[in-house]
Amino acid sequence: MSVDVPRMEELLGPVPVAGYGDGCGGGRGGARHLSGVLPALSAAIGHPVPTEVHRDPKAVQRALGLPDARSAVVVLVDGLGFWNLAMRLGHAPYLRSLMNEPANLRPISTCTPSTTVAAMSTFGTGTCPGLTCMTGYTQRNPRTGGLAQLIQFRDSIAPRDLQRQPTVFERLTAQGVRVTSSGLPKFAASPLTEAALRGGDYIGNVAPAERVRVAAAAAAEPGLTYLYIRDADKVGHTYGWDSEKWIGTFERIDAQLALLHRSVPRGTLIVISADHGMIAADPALRVDIAEHEALRRGVALVGGEARAPMLYVEDGVDAREVAERWRSFLGGHALVMTREEACSQGVFGPLDPRAGSMIGDVLVYALGAATIVDSRTQSDAATRLPSVHGSRTMLEMDIPCLIDLT
Ligand SMILES: [Zn+2]
Repeated sequence: MSVDVPRMEELLGPVPVAGYGDGCGGGRGGARHLSGVLPALSAAIGHPVPTEVHRDPKAVQRALGLPDARSAVVVLVDGLGFWNLAMRLGHAPYLRSLMNEPANLRPISTCTPSTTVAAMSTFGTGTCPGLTCMTGYTQRNPRTGGLAQLIQFRDSIAPRDLQRQPTVFERLTAQGVRVTSSGLPKFAASPLTEAALRGGDYIGNVAPAERVRVAAAAAAEPGLTYLYIRDADKVGHTYGWDSEKWIGTFERIDAQLALLHRSVPRGTLIVISADHGMIAADPALRVDIAEHEALRRGVALVGGEARAPMLYVEDGVDAREVAERWRSFLGGHALVMTREEACSQGVFGPLDPRAGSMIGDVLVYALGAATIVDSRTQSDAATRLPSVHGSRTMLEMDIPCLIDLT
């Protein structure tokens, strides 16, 4: 089975805002969203965990087409968007075999922004960035007025204080269900793990095949196993997702997933998803805020990231005026909106009352292959990454939810 891949122009265009909750009809989002994956799996293994966004995990399970199973393994492949995968399917025999199943041919949606910290917490809690208060790679820390970086939680509110939604892993563990995470040792006690994926046992291993074997062995007991695969994102940022290096990485990931398929006990449910896709940035479309007075004026702080900057305006400055100025400067290269506009459209989903003090006053979503960087505060290398994500295009937003009942 082959996948019909839209033209690149369409893939680099914006998609409609994903709806949050189970009642979103045929639109984007609803159950077909990263936030639904763990609630659906909790129902599939017989221990449904309702969340603030998904009240009926059984309905989410049905909508995603997950069969019941006593043991499930969920794999999150960082940065492996649905269309990134579809465009390189010839390099991935195991993933290609899953595409014979019609249910696997439809992508689901990640959250906005399409970035790791927002998506991991959306996934881990079964909710949305508006509720987890993890709304960008960097965001304002209201207690200091400066920027917090949420991968390492640098200059941030502590993980459990910032992210107060219970995780699905915690809720399952509280029900007496086995939850096992298999990943890199250095992430076992990382602040991002604590914020987004706390709960259960974490088994760290340096070797990728060992992580797969640990996950497969854990799956012998009823419960939920989580396997994290990092390298598609890492190699994408360093060399470009369109590079030969990325293809080699993708081939190794496919081999790891095939090993998982071969190693789990029969009857184990495997679900493979991702936190976001990736676009190849065009250096000619790199806009540096530092170089343009029209972009600097009235802006006190720039958070977010190159595909989704969040602007915090100076005291007394009207965010609508800044948004209008940015909109006319960037033209068709970005969507620009105020926080009020974004929140009323449900971009971040339902909101914790604290989220408003962290989300930018003006939100910018790059379109096409554009990036919007700030050389005053970002390293030169960080402003020139060959592949990036964070925005609201189809290539970044559509993620796989591949089902393999072994
Ligand atoms: Zn990521």
